[in-house]
Amino acid sequence: MPEDLIYLDNNATTPCDPRVVEAMLPYFYEKPGNAASRNHPFGWVADEAVKQAREQVAQLIQADPREVIFTSGATESDNLALKGVFELYRRKGSHIVTVKTEHKAVLDACGHIEKMGGEVTYLDVEADGRVSLEALGAAIRPDTVLVSVMWANNETGVIQPMKAIGDICDKHGVLLMSDATQAVGKIPVDPKAAGVHLMAFTAHKMYGPKGIGALYISRRQPRVKVAPQIDGGGHEQGMRSGTLNVPAIVGFGRAAGLAAQGMEEEGLRLRRLRDKLENALLESVEEAFVNGSREHRLGHVSNIAFRHAEAEAVMMTFNQRVALSSGSACTSASVEPSHVLTAMGHSSELAHSSLRFSLGRFNTEQEIDYAIEAVVKGVEKVRGMSPVWEMFKEGML
Ligand SMILES: *Cc1c(COP(=O)(O)O)cnc(C)c1O
Repeated sequence: MPEDLIYLDNNATTPCDPRVVEAMLPYFYEKPGNAASRNHPFGWVADEAVKQAREQVAQLIQADPREVIFTSGATESDNLALKGVFELYRRKGSHIVTVKTEHKAVLDACGHIEKMGGEVTYLDVEADGRVSLEALGAAIRPDTVLVSVMWANNETGVIQPMKAIGDICDKHGVLLMSDATQAVGKIPVDPKAAGVHLMAFTAHKMYGPKGIGALYISRRQPRVKVAPQIDGGGHEQGMRSGTLNVPAIVGFGRAAGLAAQGMEEEGLRLRRLRDKLENALLESVEEAFVNGSREHRLGHVSNIAFRHAEAEAVMMTFNQRVALSSGSACTSASVEPSHVLTAMGHSSELAHSSLRFSLGRFNTEQEIDYAIEAVVKGVEKVRGMSPVWEMFKEGML
């Protein structure tokens, strides 16, 4: 990566670990086989590599390798889980329960399901970003077939009580799906132990390549099936056709192996750096506070609101050096406040004044020190030019 740039946007995507790239390289030219070619060594070599990668990915989530279906990423996995269950379980019912703070891949797939005649309940969250277990239990109806709750939120890092949610779903006999994209590889994730039946995740959020992901589908107690959304060839047990992307799958496997191996140490290191960054900003900047639960949260993420300091303007003061995300999302027509922060009760103004810091494997302490200074100065500069901040300081707001 360019040396003078500081990347603190690891929840958007992570750099591909050089060890992952190295593992992938032979599968472009030296080992070019199609894993479905049964009649020659090229195919056997590719098939063996996929088998090994599937085991590595399965091991990271304590699953059976046959429970791992490779897809093009978490967006596709979310779509396959939601639409695939909706289509196949329609005889039982067509009601789905999800949460307002889910990723757009889940929310938009649910929107599609509504157009197809399904019904979706979108649960509110508490101010700390977590779902209320009472509200969840109350939302489940006799015709509910699926509950979908993300493991950890991409904007705030807030972790949902998955095991408790799993128990509620079990009691009501409904399937539970989780988008665990931000959790897998960062914290221990065991879908079977949590009562999660389908789980989406992706390589490029855990130092693997883009364009490869997986859907975990429980095979035992219960055996879950999904209707394929892509037909042709019958790959991946008929649930996702298409020639396997062997180099990417190999990279995903290597990334999973590396994550499993270094998870605890890396987690502690990043938590310490995150806490340093967060504490410094909260101490040095007036009217700054953390968005979401600080207790139930990924250790490498911090989402901070700086009252009356527009995040986009703050980022403009240092975006040649430090890469972050704001609580604003560009849609085709306008800049919208983050749906996650507004669901937590934030005003649109406060959402637009929030910055997301997401640390990763390759960040150093010097980078964090630089970022602290840049953000403190940036907020001061933006507030210094803001009549709203002046009015606020004079007690007029
Ligand atoms: C990044 C992300 C996705 C999308 O993953 P892709 O592999 O890019 O499709 C889905 N859900 C969450 C929570 C994410 O953070």
